[in-house]
Amino acid sequence: METRTEHFECAIIGGGLAGLCLAVQLAGRDISVVVFEKSKYPFHKVCGEYISMESWPFLESLGLPLADLALPEINSLGISSDHGFMLNHPLGMGGFGISRYSLDHCLFEIASRKGVRIMQECRVTDVQGNAGDGFQIRTSAGNFTSKVVCGSYGKYTPQFIQLPETNAFNADNQNYIGVKYHIKTDFPAHRIELHNFSDGYCGISKVDRGWYCLCYLTTARNLLENGKDVKQMEERVLYQNPLLKNYFTHSEFVNAQPLVISNVQFKKKQTDSNGIFLLGDAAGSITPLCGNGMSMGMRASKLLAEQLFLLFNGKQTPIQASQNYRRDWNAAFGTRIRAGYHLQKLFGKSRTTDLALKLLDKSPWLTSKLVSLTHGEVF
Ligand SMILES: Cc1cc2nc3c(=O)[nH]c(=O)nc-3n(C[C@H](O)[C@H](O)[C@H](O)COP(=O)(O)OP(=O)(O)OC[C@H]3O[C@@H](n4cnc5c(N)ncnc54)[C@H](O)[C@@H]3O)c2cc1C
Repeated sequence: METRTEHFECAIIGGGLAGLCLAVQLAGRDISVVVFEKSKYPFHKVCGEYISMESWPFLESLGLPLADLALPEINSLGISSDHGFMLNHPLGMGGFGISRYSLDHCLFEIASRKGVRIMQECRVTDVQGNAGDGFQIRTSAGNFTSKVVCGSYGKYTPQFIQLPETNAFNADNQNYIGVKYHIKTDFPAHRIELHNFSDGYCGISKVDRGWYCLCYLTTARNLLENGKDVKQMEERVLYQNPLLKNYFTHSEFVNAQPLVISNVQFKKKQTDSNGIFLLGDAAGSITPLCGNGMSMGMRASKLLAEQLFLLFNGKQTPIQASQNYRRDWNAAFGTRIRAGYHLQKLFGKSRTTDLALKLLDKSPWLTSKLVSLTHGEVF
């Protein structure tokens, strides 16, 4: 029996924040869009769930009623060293807290209402073709064709995407793991804290449902040295920071088991691969402490949407769209990415962190400057 191949103007691989935001914008301009997402909404993700305020107007413009959701607004920062020293500082722009479970699900619903075809539990396994003739997309749910393909598949590059191996701006070539819990605890709703421990740091801030997100990043080596046992690593390493020990031992954990991801690397990649436009973590990511990756992904979706509108209206060629998108991406994130890689070196190393925090405590101007480097402008 012959199976029908469906055709779309734009195919998006990965329905996280970047992919869904792009889909909503394109569908708003009557462009036919399909999103392939290998999981099923709603689902949890390893993420600190703090979104810088720069994204608030953009998310509202997509139809997300943020003001009605009574979300915690966060304007105060605390960073501790594992010796227990705490730097306190106001967060200039600040942010808000919302779980990825809720946020991605809201965007999925908005995209569906706008007519985006969302293929859930559908993994893309191969893409062939080019920007001139169009693309053939092979998925676990059949084959599709599309004029344009965008990759927003997150931090793990699929095998069918060719990227040259690059270590540019990769702070230390490390492999990291990310661990996340939702907890109920006694903690001010307007505050975010980052607690350092040996080879890592852990953030805590409020999200929706009265929950708090407790999420940390550490080296894969740290886990290995603790027999690949997360609980053992927490008790032996994270608990060395007394403030962190307090949150782990005096909170109610919503789920006993954390969500864990491994093989995480932070580096700049590129904004296209063989005619496929890349956005979000697929184009490059920096450590959570240094950058607000969610806002970067959302902003990249806006930059790309602008170029794709011109492309679909016949006002530029695919090559021009690709060049213009790369130019805009570098202008928007170049400095932030570079600053992030340097900032990262200050954290997770006991002595350096303690010293850096004590110095910053004495120079609020410098602290404000560093904090502002990790937050972009409203878009
Ligand atoms: C420990 C940690 C904490 C963080 N904390 C924060 C924070 O507090 N604030 C912040 O702003 N950022 C934070 N970040 C960064 C942030 O999570 C990412 O930058 C953001 O999720 C990137 O969004 P994305 O849409 O590019 O990718 P993702 O949200 O990862 O979405 C990619 C999607 O693609 C799907 N997919 C992948 N491959 C395929 C395929 N072949 N076929 C179909 N679907 C596929 C995946 O299932 C996934 O849903 C953190 C990151 C880590 C690791």
